[in-house]
Amino acid sequence: MKKKILSVLGTRPEAIKMAPLILEIAKHPDCFDNIVCVTAQHREMLDQVLDIFNIIPDYDLNIMQPKQTLSGVMGEILSGLDSVIAKSRPDIILVHGDTITSFAAALSAFFHQIPVGHVEACLRSGNKLSPFPEEMARTLTGSIADLHFAPTKLNAENLYKSGITKNVYITGNTVIDALLSIVRDGYSFKNNDLCGIDFQTKKTILITIHRRENLGEPMKNILTAIKRLALKYENDIRFIYPVHKNPVVAECAAKILGGLGNVYLIGPLDVEDMHNLINISYFVITDSGGLQEEAPALGKPVLVCRTETERPEAVDAGTVKIVWADEENIYNEAVSLLENTDEYKRMSRAVNPYGDGRASKRIVEILAAADQAKYVYIPKENPFLEIIADINRDIDAKIEDAQNFGKLRDKEMHRQFSLYEAEIQKKDIVIDELRRNNAALISTHQDTLSSKKFRLAHMIALTAKNPLKIFLWPMWIFKLLTR
Ligand code: UDP
Repeated sequence: MKKKILSVLGTRPEAIKMAPLILEIAKHPDCFDNIVCVTAQHREMLDQVLDIFNIIPDYDLNIMQPKQTLSGVMGEILSGLDSVIAKSRPDIILVHGDTITSFAAALSAFFHQIPVGHVEACLRSGNKLSPFPEEMARTLTGSIADLHFAPTKLNAENLYKSGITKNVYITGNTVIDALLSIVRDGYSFKNNDLCGIDFQTKKTILITIHRRENLGEPMKNILTAIKRLALKYENDIRFIYPVHKNPVVAECAAKILGGLGNVYLIGPLDVEDMHNLINISYFVITDSGGLQEEAPALGKPVLVCRTETERPEAVDAGTVKIVWADEENIYNEAVSLLENTDEYKRMSRAVNPYGDGRASKRIVEILAAADQAKYVYIPKENPFLEIIADINRDIDAKIEDAQNFGKLRDKEMHRQFSLYEAEIQKKDIVIDELRRNNAALISTHQDTLSSKKFRLAHMIALTAKNPLKIFLWPMWIFKLLTR
């Protein structure tokens, strides 16, 4: 029977990372009904990705509003998905990563008692407020999910540590599938600002800074460091910054970096231009999660302007450095990469801890093989039957254990008791014997005493009859005492 798979996505990074999987599912029409719902938590940036991968959604909640709040987005998605799920009646809902779309879709799936597959599961920064709200969105999505597709071993370990050990699969990250299908040598950029640049003439540093935690003072520090770098290397280095749609980011970027001849403040790039721009850059300064995975896969050093990362694999491998939102630190590390060839070589050593380009294939294989009964914790027909059956099975198992234990315990007690009994019997025998011996001794003694008394009485009686017998007394007394 075909499985109906509903993939729910809402932002640009989700679309980039879910696209290869949706396309892979589509290759198996005999096995799956491939249904796609977009929430459009991002609109334009999402559509750009869908266009490139030729994905036409079956449902579009189109929730994006100016100045939308997290709760507003959450509420819109929850109510929108109610009717999508009612109409499409999926067997599995796939969500990705750490967005409000993922969390809301997982929660909605739970409300409808439909199993959830979590793609890019189990990354953790360990700080609930950073990335915000993504760290909690991913953690909560993970606690609802039934199938966990962890990109790396470390990610799977995060989940094990939190007590989730069932249905955790290490698959690699689907972003590498997307990247490898997009990057090519001799690529011609579509973006107007990029297509006129001769990239052979100067080194390019790629910048993306937009994260919520960096808005305000941290962003000013980061961009001021970049301004100092741009002034220092005015004639040698080109800085390209595709600025996020968020107006706060755009305003800050224009204020600090606007007017510098070697800094290109351009609009968001489509994913093809973006991945190919990473490929020809010298290194990357970013606070993005996705770029921390993509750039190392292409052998490009990354300076991450955050205090921690939920992607420590490339930090451990030496390709990524956490430089905080610290102006001096960012400046110094960038200068070191530009001027210290050994340091650059060390960091640009190509490592690819995030995947081999086959993550989507693995996930599809798991989906095809997944026996729903194994991971649906609440069956659709009667929510409680299975739970009760589970509890009963559990209780039965415990009773059996207890009985076995009881049997063992009884057996042991019986053995011990028999030993005691045997001991006691032995002691009784000994005591009896002692008693008997004693009795014998006493009676012998008594016999002896009584016979001596009797003899004495006899001696007196004989002497009374015949007083001459008195002369026999010395011999009688000797006999009496020595017998
Ligand atoms: N990206 C893109 N165009 C841009 C900036 C980023 O296609 O102008 C891609 C980038 O290559 C990566 C993803 O978007 O795959 C990262 O998105 P973002 O930084 O918004 O989110 P995060 O990865 O931090 O969740």
